[in-house]
Order: sequence, then C-alpha cells, then structure tokens
Amino acid sequence: MDNKTIAIVGGGPAGLMAAELLSGADHSVTIYEAMPTVGRKFMLAGKSGLNITHSEDFSRFFTRFAESTDRLRPALEAFTPEDVRGWAAGLGTETFIGTSGRVFPTAMKASPLLRAWLKRLDGQGVKILTRQRWAGFDGANLVFETPEGRKTVSADAVLLALGGASWPKLGSDAGWVDVLKSKGVVLNPFRPANCGFDVGWSEVFIERFAGAPVKSVTATSSAGTKQGEFVISKHGIEGSLVYAHAAALRDQLQDRGKAVLTLDLMPGRSPERIARDLSRQPAKASLSNRLRKGAGLDGAKAGLLRECVPDIQSATPEQLAASIKASPVQLIRPRPIAEAISSAGGVTWDGIDEGYMLKTLPGVFVAGEMIDWEAPTGGYLLTACLATGRAAALGIEAWLTR
Ligand SMILES: Cc1cc2nc3c(=O)[nH]c(=O)nc-3n(C[C@H](O)[C@H](O)[C@H](O)COP(=O)(O)OP(=O)(O)OC[C@H]3O[C@@H](n4cnc5c(N)ncnc54)[C@H](O)[C@@H]3O)c2cc1C
Repeated sequence: MDNKTIAIVGGGPAGLMAAELLSGADHSVTIYEAMPTVGRKFMLAGKSGLNITHSEDFSRFFTRFAESTDRLRPALEAFTPEDVRGWAAGLGTETFIGTSGRVFPTAMKASPLLRAWLKRLDGQGVKILTRQRWAGFDGANLVFETPEGRKTVSADAVLLALGGASWPKLGSDAGWVDVLKSKGVVLNPFRPANCGFDVGWSEVFIERFAGAPVKSVTATSSAGTKQGEFVISKHGIEGSLVYAHAAALRDQLQDRGKAVLTLDLMPGRSPERIARDLSRQPAKASLSNRLRKGAGLDGAKAGLLRECVPDIQSATPEQLAASIKASPVQLIRPRPIAEAISSAGGVTWDGIDEGYMLKTLPGVFVAGEMIDWEAPTGGYLLTACLATGRAAALGIEAWLTR
C-alpha cells in the first residue's frame, strides 16, 4: 500500500498504541496533542504503581467490561493481558503479578515505559505536535487551535483518541462532545466510574476519622460482596473497595435516588460469636469499651458503627453483633467526575463499525476511553485502551486498502 498520511488526535495510551502500529506499517503519522506533553493520565496512573493489566484467566478477564464485553472481545483477544506484558517487556519494562493478581511494572512507575515508548515512536518517524487543540472540522479537514493560531490539517485517515471525562486538568476534558454531536455521532452522557461517594458524615466523625483507612472488611451492594479496604474522606468514602461497587451504586442513585453500601466490619467472625463475646462485658461499661474489649472493634470501625447505625447506644449484644456484620452506609451522590479514576459514557458502540470507524464520519476512527465502556480498576482500563488503539489502527489499515 502507498504511504498514507494519518492524523491521530490525543496522545494517551490509545493514541500512542495506534501510532506505533500505523508508523510500523510505514504510514506517515502525526499525533496532535492539546497539552504540553503526551501521556499525562498514564503518568498519573504511574503514581500508584501503573497497574497495567491483570493476570486472571482470560475467560474471566474479558467479562469485566459488563455489557461492552461482546464489542471489546475481538480487540482484547487480539491484544491479551499476556501481550500487554510482552509489549512492555519489549520496551524494557519487566512486570510482576501482585498478590491480588494485578500486574505492575517492576519499577512501579510509568516514566521509564513512556520514555522508551516515545523513543520507539520517534524511531518509527512519528511526529508529535503538542499544544494543538482539535476544535472541529472544516469540510474534511481538521481544525486545531495552536499557539500560532488556527490551522487546518488534511489526512487520509483520522483517529480520535481523546480520552474520557475524568481528571480534565490532565487533558481529557470531553471538550469534543459538541463537535461530534453536530456530526450526528450518538453519545451517552459521561458519568463518573471508579469513583468515591458523598456520605452525610457528622462534623465530629469527619474531625476524628477523615483520612482513616478501613481495612479487612467486606462490602455488599447489588454488585455482590467483595473484600478489601477503603478510606473515609471528609466527603464520604473512596478507595478500591468502593470503586469495585461504584458502577452499581452510581446507577442505583440515578435510578432510585438512594443507595446503600453494607459493611461487614468483622468478616471473619460469626454474629453468634460476636454477640456472645459482647454479652460477657459488664452492662455498665461504656459502648466503646464493650466494643473494644468484647469484639476487638475500635478506631474508625467503631466510629463507622456509631455513625451508621441509629440507636446503637441502647442495642442488645445480638443487635450490636448484627450491626457489626451489616453496617449500612447511606450514600448521597457520586463524587464529581473530575475526581473519578475513569468515566462511563461517550461514543456509543452503535455509532462505530467493527473497525472502530464512526458510521457518520467515514475515515474518522475512535479508540480508548472516549468510547462508552467501563471496567473496574485492576489494569482493565489501560489494557482496553491499548487494545482498542490497536484495533482502530487495524481498522484504519483495512479502510485505506478497501
Ligand atoms: C488517578 C488515576 C489513576 C489511574 N490508574 C490506572 C491504573 O493503574 N490502571 C489502569 O488500567 N488505568 C488507570 N487509570 C485510567 C487510565 O489512565 C485511562 O483509562 C487511560 O489513560 C485512558 O487512555 P486514553 O488514551 O483513552 O485517554 P487519555 O489517557 O485521557 O488521553 C487522551 C489524550 O487526548 C488529549 N486530548 C483531549 N482532547 C483533545 C483535543 N480537543 N485536542 C487534542 N488533544 C486532546 C488529552 O490531552 C490526552 O492527552 C487511572 C486514571 C487516573 C485518573
């Protein structure tokens, strides 16, 4: 095939992966990025170790994408978690499997991997232009706002890899939504995913426990029962155990206006045993002392019990035990999308073909978090962004040779 000109808008993992494939196939590839540097969210993900993929069996891995599983499956099968690890190793980044099955670079950061990746792209002739904000179309051309003013760019094919709507200060601010809507692309509204929630904590509780971790508990919602840990914040709750329930809780709040996350503060112990231990405490002892000495419950866990269960002071040992095993945290609303790890919503699957091309804009493709899919934390997000970037690049190749 002749060498073609390809414009990739957005330099996150999805755009960079597409650039790698297309430049490897000898096309002339330019990445246009609004921010002063590419890969800012990828770098931030590196601050918590860069959980790049997950080691669980693939038959389980691809079910993590809920109703998007079927559409994402071909892309994920073509770039599996094993492939992600092999690709990272090819860039000099060895990975290891953590205790939870999550996969991280041995260095627990993103910068060496990103540096090596950009070097490879440079070697393959990819041009990266920063401070180029895509503002829409002028006919078939792309329009960019740049420090030198507006400019138009023509290309044989375009990939939009503009990200979702969380952490907008890192570049993915969903500023493109109206442009695509005006071109007949159907979008679902962006919503927070893997997010914290507001809870109406009392001032006293916030003062004592904001910032406190709550470890080794289980939490139950319509998403099931999961074990893990979370953090009490001054607004409510956040952290991995909360994120694991976030999609279900967010949808319940939207549909019914209320949602409850039920905590088992002592998952290893039966209610009968807890009640028996509590009943051995002197009746005149304070609640704090009975909880601490009888059930070994103190600090943030005891605080949560008092905060979440009404009339706890007058509870019998059996009632106390039942509350310890099922403390209801009433949620008010998800935290704002700007604070979420990721977002749901964006370009609908109906709006794109099997090759990731927008049905209403032939020659324009999409990849990454700007498509409406969501997944829990655990390396699923980055894997799917890399896999869809790759799938869209293959879609572009197929379209150019049609
Ligand atoms: C705090 C945090 C931690 C995370 N940790 C993990 C993790 O450990 N594991 C994991 O799997 N996922 C993690 N994620 C999620 C993951 O980083 C994202 O899902 C992923 O970066 C999305 O890739 P993307 O290429 O689709 O979009 P992005 O990475 O958001 O990149 C989109 C790019 O497009 C650019 N852009 C947007 N609009 C325009 C425009 N109009 N013109 C030009 N350029 C534009 C943006 O500046 C940006 O560079 C984390 C996210 C956050 C916020």
